[in-house]
Amino acid sequence: METFKKRTPIIHLLSVNKDVLEASVIEVAKVKGAISCDDCRIEYSKEHYEILFANKKLIYFDFNFPATTYLACLCHNCLFKALKGAANGEDVSVKILHKKEEYLCKFSSEK
Ligand SMILES: [Zn+2]
Repeated sequence: METFKKRTPIIHLLSVNKDVLEASVIEVAKVKGAISCDDCRIEYSKEHYEILFANKKLIYFDFNFPATTYLACLCHNCLFKALKGAANGEDVSVKILHKKEEYLCKFSSEK
């Protein structure tokens, strides 16, 4: 498995292909010990993630980079940042998977 390097700009990886973007919510139950974002490195113990998640303060996502096999764990801030970058002036759609639900969200590069 490839190791994600912090200096690799996510927006560049993303803009390779923006056809289908998918991100799945990482459930607290699936966290072992601690969880950290592959981009900003923000890290929480499972206990803290559980509290933050329950209070809708923080969500980590599994994000499959298009056209690669690279699966990153991103906090919602980094995911949104990456999606905004991928939008590159246009709208970009992302499917958010949570349990058995799918939510289609649209992001635009405008603030
Ligand atoms: Zn992050």
